[in-house]
Amino acid sequence: MTEQTVYLDPPPYNWRTRKIEVRPSRWYATVQLNRDGYAEVARRQGLDPELPSAYQEAIDAARGAAIDRLRYDGSSDSFSWSNGPSWVTLFVPFRQVKAAVEALHVAELNHDYGAARALADQLALPVDDWLAPGERELIRGVDFDPPPRVFLRFLRGKARQQGVRLNGRATAGSVWVRPTLSPVEKLLRENRPERYPGWVDRWSEYDEPDSMPIRPWVGGQDQDLSYGATRVEFREVTTPDRSGCPCGMSLRDLADGDSQHTTHHTAWTFGIRAPKNLEWHSDLAVVTTQSPISWRRLANRVARMPQKEEHYDFNSWNHLGEPEATSDNVRAYLLKANGHVIGYLAANDASEHLRWDLVDGSPDGDHDSTLRPRIILIWVADIYRRQGVGAMLVQALADDFGCQVADVSWSTPVSDAGQQLARRVSPQGIWIS
Ligand SMILES: [Zn+2]
Repeated sequence: MTEQTVYLDPPPYNWRTRKIEVRPSRWYATVQLNRDGYAEVARRQGLDPELPSAYQEAIDAARGAAIDRLRYDGSSDSFSWSNGPSWVTLFVPFRQVKAAVEALHVAELNHDYGAARALADQLALPVDDWLAPGERELIRGVDFDPPPRVFLRFLRGKARQQGVRLNGRATAGSVWVRPTLSPVEKLLRENRPERYPGWVDRWSEYDEPDSMPIRPWVGGQDQDLSYGATRVEFREVTTPDRSGCPCGMSLRDLADGDSQHTTHHTAWTFGIRAPKNLEWHSDLAVVTTQSPISWRRLANRVARMPQKEEHYDFNSWNHLGEPEATSDNVRAYLLKANGHVIGYLAANDASEHLRWDLVDGSPDGDHDSTLRPRIILIWVADIYRRQGVGAMLVQALADDFGCQVADVSWSTPVSDAGQQLARRVSPQGIWIS
């Protein structure tokens, strides 16, 4: 549709000439009577240029009905117009452009407002029927035409104007509605009748008949189940003020919905998911500083768990460069269960040790310069703790080296959990380094 102009006064055309201009936009056309010059001339002649109230009312009705119709059809544009003697504006669907031009034409020249009223009637939607009280299913193609979601959005807007809560749900081919009136909105409207002319409470006294249609449960929304519900009460209590999580992260970050902690905590609990591209020939892998990078990266990721939990500054596995032998034979034992790496033991070889009888505060024991496997760090995923996993890892370390568990050296400081493990696997005392 292209722009067009219809002149209402005979030629010659000048600034005083009344004309109707049609301007199309995406969803609708603006049909505007320009009587600016005409009103100005009337003013100069000492006449009142205001539109007769019947004129104004008929145009307002047509405009309101047309805007409703455009919204109903899916337009989300906002409409604004000046309501004076200089301009008379309608926004109409393209189908109604001709009727709108005609309505303005006869209203302006003949003071005949029938065409404007007819236009309003033609565009009017049965909003009152849709918002009548009671649970109902409105069917697309029968009760309304637009897509159900578009229709529901439109109807919610109309309900709000009436102070009505819709309780609506769109299905594939219909919209379920149960309009109810909020007590606050009722009060507001009853106390301010001048602000809400013609408003009538149709909802408060409505009794749902026994044969009420049953709205299908579609899940997701629990609006139905809250109908007639009472308010939740609250009590004053003291809540736990714990801020640190056993995984080593803060509990406060959970409140922000930050998923970083949740992700870390899951790994800390269940272990690190074993990457698909690594082939495990059995469940215990010995990764060295010369292993393929994907294995060394995995060791590094697992080592982040104890690093976080114990608040260490450094990751116990940082061999992420080119494959390179170390003089002290650094290696990591990775234990897999249920598709996750659930145990980690980092070790090297050392030949400077002291004897410790595992009693707190006892003096340094014998020096020793035997080459021994040395535990740098042990970590077990939370749900696998206290099940002998740590002892098994220490045993594997000793077996690989060709010594007894009691011959293994433990790096200091030995953590509380480490001491418990040491007492269990080596009750006579341990070597520390
Ligand atoms: Zn945590």
